[in-house]
Amino acid sequence: MTSWPSDKPSPLWMALSRERFSAPRLEGAVETDVAVIGGGISGLATAIELRRRGHRVVVLEATGIGHGASGRANGQVISALTRHGPDAIRKLWPGERGERFIALVRGAADSLYDLVDRYRIDCDARRNGWLQPAQSPGRAKRVAGLAAQWAEAGAPAAALNATEMAGRLGTDVYHGGWEHGGGGHINPYAFTVGLARGATGEGVTIYENSPATALSRRAEGWIVETPAGKVLAAKVAITTAAHTGNLWPALRTSIVPVTSYQAATDPLGTLADRILPNDEAASDTRMDLRYFRKDRDGRLVSGGALAVQFGASHRLQAMVGRRLREMFPALPENPMTSFWGGRIGMTIDRLPHLHRREDGLCAWIGCNGRGLALACAMAPVLADALEGVADERLAVRPTSPPRVPLHFLVSRFARLILPWYRLKDRQEV
Ligand SMILES: Cc1cc2nc3c(=O)[nH]c(=O)nc-3n(C[C@H](O)[C@H](O)[C@H](O)COP(=O)(O)OP(=O)(O)OC[C@H]3O[C@@H](n4cnc5c(N)ncnc54)[C@H](O)[C@@H]3O)c2cc1C
Repeated sequence: MTSWPSDKPSPLWMALSRERFSAPRLEGAVETDVAVIGGGISGLATAIELRRRGHRVVVLEATGIGHGASGRANGQVISALTRHGPDAIRKLWPGERGERFIALVRGAADSLYDLVDRYRIDCDARRNGWLQPAQSPGRAKRVAGLAAQWAEAGAPAAALNATEMAGRLGTDVYHGGWEHGGGGHINPYAFTVGLARGATGEGVTIYENSPATALSRRAEGWIVETPAGKVLAAKVAITTAAHTGNLWPALRTSIVPVTSYQAATDPLGTLADRILPNDEAASDTRMDLRYFRKDRDGRLVSGGALAVQFGASHRLQAMVGRRLREMFPALPENPMTSFWGGRIGMTIDRLPHLHRREDGLCAWIGCNGRGLALACAMAPVLADALEGVADERLAVRPTSPPRVPLHFLVSRFARLILPWYRLKDRQEV
């Protein structure tokens, strides 16, 4: 297990969350139908889905609920993948398989907001849309095509010209782009702890500070060991995302964990009214992504990645502050006042993967930085997979975890690709 170090700064979202959650550590042996390993949004949404289908479920969380990526994200709720639109998905998987997956991505934000409503989660949920501004005219043309594909697939998507985008963002540095009316933003930590409360209310048993340290087979299923106890389960779901360790070694080497940092300003007062006046979330088309949203108090929350991690807090805040001031010159100098980070699980093809073994071990992995809504949409798929639904009827076809070539090197040095991304971004026309 590779958890986020506890001596690193906590996300702003924890301080802003009005809800707290705590659960005991597992001590002794418990028996259940399904053991879910990982207490982020994926694990909790899957546990809820399984419980509502009548299964007994135990969730093991290595540290605290929401201490992984789920509590550290920027909080943008996005019903679209980073690379693949409907046409690309149909090309990969012609026929019903592609259509099922398109429907899953199209409905991902609905899945998340449905959970907010069902468990009355107080996570400052806003659903005013998600914007993807384009940094060049060529990109604007391409994403207008993407908007048309999503609209044709039934999503509330539309292209925006440069003037429209400027009005929506409060800056005219972009060349247009598109909007997805189903998106929005949340406090992701508050959402995760609210989900844990919802899961507990449904009858899911959650243990915190209970890392699964070993998995072994027994006659009728699995033994999941933790430092002070064990879970005897018929089936096991692994939802440890970028923190995946060696419980299923092939799963760990199927992704590249990437560190991503977040930074926030102080509340901006009346200036906040001129930035994203309609309160959408925005992520642009760059490979070295620029993104931002406001929180409930009018802070601007943004983030980015660094090729070299040395002095990350100072350098990241300076970089993000500079980028935001290019868009919003009225921001004060050095506007970022809080900082935190987290880890994202990237797959080589930038698609989420579902894995299932005949012995009852299942996982989904590969959020590629857009996993808040996707994790909620993947929960029924993982539940189907655990229940033994046939491969061809699943919205994501299960595969064996594909090994990332040169995983040892790539997982340590992936961030060194950033300068090349930045060069490509500057060359975009
Ligand atoms: C900085 C950052 C910004 C992001 N911004 C966005 C965004 O704006 N929009 C968006 O859609 N997505 C975003 N993401 C991605 C999103 O946060 C994730 O896709 C999503 O939260 C994944 O949820 P998860 O449950 O799969 O993983 P996690 O929340 O990481 O949960 C995995 C959990 O497993 C636990 N675990 C690990 N090993 C073990 C073990 N052996 N035993 C028990 N427990 C274990 C970990 O402690 C962790 O809590 C961002 C991610 C980061 C890091």
